[in-house]
This record gives sequence, C-alpha cells and structure tokens, in this order.
Amino acid sequence: MNALRYPLLRGLAKLCSDSCSEDLESLAREAEELESLASKLPQPRLEPGGGAPLASRVSNLDELLSVAGEVTGSMELARYLVARRIYLDLRAHAPRPKGARCSVCGSTPRLITLSRVNQGIFDGYTPTARCACGMEWRVDEWECPSCGSRGRGFFNIYIVQPGVLEVRECRSCGYRLVVTSVRPRQVEVLLVTMLLGG
Ligand SMILES: [Zn+2]
Ligand SMILES: [Zn+2]
Repeated sequence: MNALRYPLLRGLAKLCSDSCSEDLESLAREAEELESLASKLPQPRLEPGGGAPLASRVSNLDELLSVAGEVTGSMELARYLVARRIYLDLRAHAPRPKGARCSVCGSTPRLITLSRVNQGIFDGYTPTARCACGMEWRVDEWECPSCGSRGRGFFNIYIVQPGVLEVRECRSCGYRLVVTSVRPRQVEVLLVTMLLGG
C-alpha cells in the first residue's frame, strides 16, 4: 500500500473487512478517475439569492445528476460527482459555513482534521471539517454533526493508528467520524465517506 500517496489508507483498511482492505488501493485509484469525470459534467448554473446549501440554488441539478448517473452507474457516486463539480466551479459563492452542515452540498462531514497551531507557549489544534465535496470549515470537534450532542463524553473513541487516525462514534445517535492529524487526499475523504456512511 502506497503510504506516501495515500497517508490514511493503512488506517482505513482496518475499518473494513479483509476483502475490502485488499481492494482499497484500487478503489482509491478508481476514485482518482472520478475526479477527472467531474470536469466533464455540464456546468452548474447558479440562481441568485443567498440560501444554503449552494447546491439548492443550482437550477440544472437534475440534469447534472442524470448525466453523472449515466457516467458512474451509481446514484451514490453520481451525488458525489455533482457535489464535487459544484464545489470546484462555485465554491467562491458558498455562504459562510455555519454549524455542522456543508454550505456547498448540505452533507454532514465524516472527516475532521486536527492541524497543529502554535498558541504561544502551548501547542493547540484547529479542528477542520472536510466534506466529501471538498469544502473545509472550522468546527467544534466534540459536537456530533448529526444530532448536535456536544462534549467529549458523548463519544466512543476507537484508536485506529495512534496519533494519526481515530474513529469517534456518537453515543446518542451512532454517527461515526474519522478524526486525523494527517491532511488527506481528496479520494481518501471520499473513501471515508463511503466506508462510514454506508
Ligand atoms: Zn460538501
Ligand atoms: Zn449524534
């Protein structure tokens, strides 16, 4: 497994069954191809207004979904592809992120990255949600994106790779998140979303 190219893949392999972990790298390569397909979709057309998420203001959403469905043969991948295209084309128009939902595609994130920041004599961490579409925004790392429960005590924590990757599961609603100190590649964000969301 190419740990330099895909820093999260080894940890993610532990989240799925043996057969899945063997396939994960080829799945990652297929996901890279999806990335090039996103640019082949029709251009999303944005209606004026300020509503969130951005995708709700795209007037040709049905057309985009139908083309993406033909290209991928899967509704799940089609939705991803369309969200990705909208992010790539229109992210400059996205409303200011507020709360847990993505202001581009409306999804709840499955991945939070903790990046180290220097705060004087203490080192701290900035938790950033990373949506499958590509959008990133600051979040409260101990707030469940799904039900809003807040606090460390609300989460079961499974250390997958110490210091690199852990899975947190909300005790109230069962929502699962990957929290990582590594900056993931786009395809890894997609794989996390598929592994935890399915
Ligand atoms: Zn999104
Ligand atoms: Zn929850």
